[in-house]
Amino acid sequence: ALVFLLSITINRDHIPSNSPSVAQTPQSPRLSLETMRFDGNLSFDNIQHASKDFGNRYHLMPTAVLYPKSISNIAQIIKHVFNLGLTSHLTVAARGHGHSLEGQALAPDGVVIDMESYKSPVMTFHTGEKHPYMDVSAGELWINILHESLKRDLTPKSWTDYLHLTVGGTLSNAGISGQAFRHGPQINNVYRLQVVTGRGDVVTCSDEQNADLFNAALGGLGQFGIITEARIALEPAPTKVKWIRALYSDFTTFTNDQERLISHSRGAFDYLEGFVVINRTGLLNNWRSSFNPRDPVQAEQFTSDGRILFCLELAKYFNLEGVGEIELEVDSLLTELSYIRSTLFLSEVSYVDFLDRVHMSEMKLCENDMWDVPHPWLNLLVPRRSIHSFAEEVFHNIVKDTSNGPILIYPVNKSRWKNGTSLVTPDENVFYLVALLSSAMPYSVGRDGLDAILARNRRIVKFVGDSNLGIKQYLPHYTTTQEWRAHFGDKWEVFLRRKMAYDPLAILAPGQRIFPRAN
Ligand code: FAD
Repeated sequence: ALVFLLSITINRDHIPSNSPSVAQTPQSPRLSLETMRFDGNLSFDNIQHASKDFGNRYHLMPTAVLYPKSISNIAQIIKHVFNLGLTSHLTVAARGHGHSLEGQALAPDGVVIDMESYKSPVMTFHTGEKHPYMDVSAGELWINILHESLKRDLTPKSWTDYLHLTVGGTLSNAGISGQAFRHGPQINNVYRLQVVTGRGDVVTCSDEQNADLFNAALGGLGQFGIITEARIALEPAPTKVKWIRALYSDFTTFTNDQERLISHSRGAFDYLEGFVVINRTGLLNNWRSSFNPRDPVQAEQFTSDGRILFCLELAKYFNLEGVGEIELEVDSLLTELSYIRSTLFLSEVSYVDFLDRVHMSEMKLCENDMWDVPHPWLNLLVPRRSIHSFAEEVFHNIVKDTSNGPILIYPVNKSRWKNGTSLVTPDENVFYLVALLSSAMPYSVGRDGLDAILARNRRIVKFVGDSNLGIKQYLPHYTTTQEWRAHFGDKWEVFLRRKMAYDPLAILAPGQRIFPRAN
């Protein structure tokens, strides 16, 4: 039924006349790949890892995994599949670090391209420029990019909270974190891409050259081509970070402070996020292992009294020689805010430890077998005008007594973001990222079990749909054309046109479930 529904969108009528003609005899996917002349490493055995992802809910085997040594390996595979035309069901998915949540990097019975094993070009830095940048393989992990660029006292500007993700994987979504209010998401901070389209063509694109493909690929959910190389903007790197947390019990006071902070013209802080604290009585005691209370006596006496709390999280970057100035600046900025005075916690960490903070949690969770569990995450972009109605219903009614994963909430300002990419955002300049990052307890059938979390997510999605609040999903997951059309709204026609232009047979990224393979 799904295939039928989606084929209303892409069917033979839509295939351009210059597409390959129909192969006469349908072949099994494996046979068709085995018979191609190919000098790359296409494995039919080392494929298990490519059947699952971080979400840990979908397990679908590919037929083969390509471990590319050169860009022509990637182009050759895609050309081969493209030339099979309409009688084949073969699809191709790039797999970055496989940290998708809903099977988006899988290619059931198709070919998965293991981008992490593709290391070309080796990282190349252009440091003498007014605007320094680096060229990097799209299969590179952000954590490796951080370490290499710091050797030159440089750093990318915009990050994700977790760095063990590939460049191609995050650029196919957006890459949003606490720096996005200043620099925009990661897709704002890329000067150029190299892409292999769904026809097997290798294309270099940027704002000046093949701009349509450049914009299509950024936030493009892997639909228009495999990103093989990216040119990433850099800036001088700090060495240290002042990392600050403070609590609020009133949601309006919390969001007013967040919005005030992101509206500073140059951004008074370098990073701003926040999270919701539900059902966490011992929270401040947990923080004491890594943060110092400004007022230890008062902090000791603070109790949540069962209230839902909101935590503002800030960071200010600095170098040791500027520490005095930074302390004065931070103190002065903090006096403008209305957090609960006894709950101010501060810490000073290295820039690397700050950016790689989620990996520290990962290691702890791994020790307790709590990392490789199902992750039924839900990420939403909520326009400013709707954030209070959303918070009232979701935090106070739907997730009110659970705490099986962080709930992030922070605003960004779209007016500083790049226009024309494939990323879908709400129609208001200021909107909030709300990320419900649940982990399902293994074997639990209670409120922390997978079914209960999925049921809560469905309630939230239904509320979002029924209430007309202008909310969009981030890292979107839908299964029907109707839902995808609604998600893209007035961007749907452009998205469809670009699909026809760059991947007319819908070979690429089948795990997103937007377009069925044309056959
Ligand atoms: P994969 O899961 O391997 O692939 C994702 C999609 O992109 C697939 O459809 C795949 O086919 C396609 N793709 C992969 N590589 C390429 C390529 N080279 N060319 C074209 N298409 C490609 N996101 C944020 O924005 N901010 C965060 O702070 C953040 N934190 C996260 C923390 C954790 C612990 C996890 C697990 C995820 C987080 N994410 C965050 C989400 C993450 O950015 C996406 O899931 C991202 O796609 C993962 O990158 P990956 O390399 O694992 O991609």
